[in-house]
Amino acid sequence: MPHNTSLIALLTVGFVLALALGLLAQRLRMSPLVGYLLAGVIAGPFTPGFVGDMTLAPQLAEIGVILLMFGVGLHFSLKDLMAVKAIAVPGAVAQITVATALGWALARALGWSNGEGLVFGLALSVASTVVLLRALDDRRLIETQRGRIAVGWLIVEDVAMVLALVLLPAFADALGGDDGVPGGNLWTTLGTTLAKVAAFVALMLLVGRRVIPWVLERVAGTGSRELFTLCVLALAMGVAFGAAELFGVSFALGAFFAGMLLNESEFGHKAANDSLPMRDAFAVLFFVSVGMLFDPMILVEHPLEVLATFLIIVVGKSFAAWAIVRAFGKPNSTALTISASLAQIGEFSFILAGLGLSLQMLPQEGSDLILAGSLLSIIVNPLIFSMLDRRDARESARVDRVAADDAERLARDNALPADVHGHAIVVGYGRVGSHLAGLLHDRGVPLVVIEDDADHVADARAAGLYAIRGNAASVAVLREAAPERAALAVFAIPNALESGETITRLKQANPAITVLARAHSDGEVRHLLDHGADGAVLAERELAFSLAEMVMSTPPYRALRQHGG
Ligand code: AMP
Repeated sequence: MPHNTSLIALLTVGFVLALALGLLAQRLRMSPLVGYLLAGVIAGPFTPGFVGDMTLAPQLAEIGVILLMFGVGLHFSLKDLMAVKAIAVPGAVAQITVATALGWALARALGWSNGEGLVFGLALSVASTVVLLRALDDRRLIETQRGRIAVGWLIVEDVAMVLALVLLPAFADALGGDDGVPGGNLWTTLGTTLAKVAAFVALMLLVGRRVIPWVLERVAGTGSRELFTLCVLALAMGVAFGAAELFGVSFALGAFFAGMLLNESEFGHKAANDSLPMRDAFAVLFFVSVGMLFDPMILVEHPLEVLATFLIIVVGKSFAAWAIVRAFGKPNSTALTISASLAQIGEFSFILAGLGLSLQMLPQEGSDLILAGSLLSIIVNPLIFSMLDRRDARESARVDRVAADDAERLARDNALPADVHGHAIVVGYGRVGSHLAGLLHDRGVPLVVIEDDADHVADARAAGLYAIRGNAASVAVLREAAPERAALAVFAIPNALESGETITRLKQANPAITVLARAHSDGEVRHLLDHGADGAVLAERELAFSLAEMVMSTPPYRALRQHGG
């Protein structure tokens, strides 16, 4: 292959394999991350067939890190953290300590140095945000008390890791690594690092905090979506790169700050949405490039070490979390959910491992063990959760339900009374759905709302409606709305292409049901009707009708209407 197409080849093979294996993983009810990592292993030098350009892979991974950390910053919420800080802060700190100590002990047993043990232990101590949020969301636990504790706990872990990323290079020499800078005593290096970080943070808080929202506002004012997305991307990459070049601060910290400052501005939400596809694409490339660095032979050559690493992640770390939550007097179900959520490692561990390798503070074998541990722990995570689900089901079957927990409350809120029938299912309670539901409710139509967004669900419940939280595309969610007893369903969501399959499923569950849907183009109307909808309303056409009506009722034209009509 000609040399100058290696980037294209890597991107193409990376995306195609990641898509195929990601879909397969999803099918097998595993996290797609497993698929992305395996795609990387296939495209890497340790397996036969295509071998991607190994000089490009780390750079792509680095861009992935910047955008991932930018995303972490965009979602970093001090408010969420404060709400659960009493348990999340000591819990996360204690758990990181236990996990790091276990990892360090294993590393020492393998004959590695203290510094290597520290990096290895730290990498085992932090869970993957991507995996955790997905697991909680699948079970609709995010809005429960235990979900909030788990998320707050993770935020503390993230902050601790950001600190570790900043401080490790300073400690590299002292801990037997090599930061590339000859000589230097620990305290001067540490002092300089902290001074640089402080200078960067001060600059961001004093100048960045004003300049970034100002720039965004100007660009948003041009009305060009493209320029806005570009601006978000330029800010993320620019701040990260500037932080690294000017202050010697890691890309990760720079990107995290850029995200956090955007998060504060009123454009944060838009920035988060607009940059999402880009972040997703590079996050996939990040996992693929990490997979490329993995040598699967470690599973054959060092099975015991892999097993020990895996046990530290899944048993050691989660037992520590469980014990800490119990020590805070929380119910067993809460403790189990939190420890299951944290029984895996992901992106942060890879970032740390990468840094460890480059500082010569982690042997290649350590990085391979971390990857193997991560792959295995992400694969078994859904199994752990389904064990929990079964346990929860047994618990709730018991008669004495004294300690009614959040999830049970949620299920009860969701549960429809058995006598509801002939109802209308309204999917989506946003601008369209909430008005529609209000009108129907006033006229006495029995309603069941399905809505994905927690705030909107709360609004619907406050308006006295039955509301089920979740995506209507999910079979389980749809089933909760009792479609077999419903008379009608209205899809009031903007994405008609998403509704198609759900409509087909509804019609299978109840062939007599009438299905109406909202559309925004002729193509969408056709798609909806093809999938069995009985009627579709093209929003823009209705808008034109209403505006025309209004025009025709204004004094200059009223006479025309009388003539015409
Ligand atoms: P709007 O465009 O303002 O009418 O908002 C649409 C609403 O539909 C939003 O509140 C979304 O959260 C919700 N929504 C979109 N897709 C789905 C879906 N597949 N299942 C449930 N709710 C959805």
